[in-house]
Amino acid sequence: MQTMKANVFRGPNKIGIEEVPRPSAGVGEAVIRITLTTICGTDLHILRGEYPVKPGLVIGHEPVGVIEELGEGLSGHKIGDRVLVGAITPCGQCRACLSAQWAQCGHGEGVEAIGGWRFGNTINGAQAEYLLVPNAQANLAKIPDELTDEQVVLLADIASTGFSGAESANIRIGDTVAVLAQGPIGLCATAGAKLMGASFIISVEGDPVRMEMSKRMGAYVVLDPKQCDVVAEIKKLTRGGADVAIEALGLQVTFENALRCLRPGGTLSSLGVYSGKLQVPYDAFAAGIGDYKIVTTLCPGGKERMRRLMSMVQSKRFDPLPLLTHRFKLDQIVEAYDVFGSRSDGCLKVSITP
Ligand SMILES: [Zn+2]
Ligand SMILES: [Zn+2]
Repeated sequence: MQTMKANVFRGPNKIGIEEVPRPSAGVGEAVIRITLTTICGTDLHILRGEYPVKPGLVIGHEPVGVIEELGEGLSGHKIGDRVLVGAITPCGQCRACLSAQWAQCGHGEGVEAIGGWRFGNTINGAQAEYLLVPNAQANLAKIPDELTDEQVVLLADIASTGFSGAESANIRIGDTVAVLAQGPIGLCATAGAKLMGASFIISVEGDPVRMEMSKRMGAYVVLDPKQCDVVAEIKKLTRGGADVAIEALGLQVTFENALRCLRPGGTLSSLGVYSGKLQVPYDAFAAGIGDYKIVTTLCPGGKERMRRLMSMVQSKRFDPLPLLTHRFKLDQIVEAYDVFGSRSDGCLKVSITP
């Protein structure tokens, strides 16, 4: 049996590189040799035991690689093709997928909440030398020759997720948009709001490195929540409330601030992952009759989504490279989690090379 190196989750605060069996491709599946991957904020939740996955699972869900093996039933790909695979791998066949809700894929049987997120969640993930890609026909996106691995790795999850916050809000040309929190996903939401045509983007963030990057991604004003009353300031700057507020943290306080800084009839687009109870205060919600809209989105995946995002990098409409601040080898993954998790040295996103 052939083996490979992989980052295995063994329990809360227990991860590390192990030799595990190398996957092989069954019908409709492919194996890619990973050439670049990264660590997601969600992986930190897994590491800390805040999001449960089975011990023994290889984690990570942002793969760039080269096709090593193609199972039966696939067409249009060949061994050696460079591919990007989304964090979400829809089957493309089920009720959810065919209703354009790929992230809630039911794997051929209807609808399953978060069912499209499989890598490093319900099946082995990308922080490894090799990765088994399910439903490969729907999920292998060929990388254009002129794009490097580093230019596309952040499209698998954070750019797709961040942009989707702006897309789900249906931002219109001339809208005012507030983006609450400027972690990697919030920064991509800011970039997405700009691409969607917002005329005025206000972001909320207190970390100096992230504040600076927020301006680079398209924010006109960055508010430090430690220095001002965020809601009052956004209402003042937008003369009555933002058209759209994007929540990118997953806390009661940011959700509530997002709701409170909207104009009546505005849209709260929520990207955060919440735990415990999430409450909607009636006063911020105009007692339920203020025509507010609350929408949520899980990272859109699939090869067509990846093709579209890569085309944005190719045409220089979006540059994800500034977000990639640190580089590590797969063998240094524990150190990489430390640096990423503690945000030390201005770390935004790390690249991991097997
Ligand atoms: Zn993620
Ligand atoms: Zn499906």
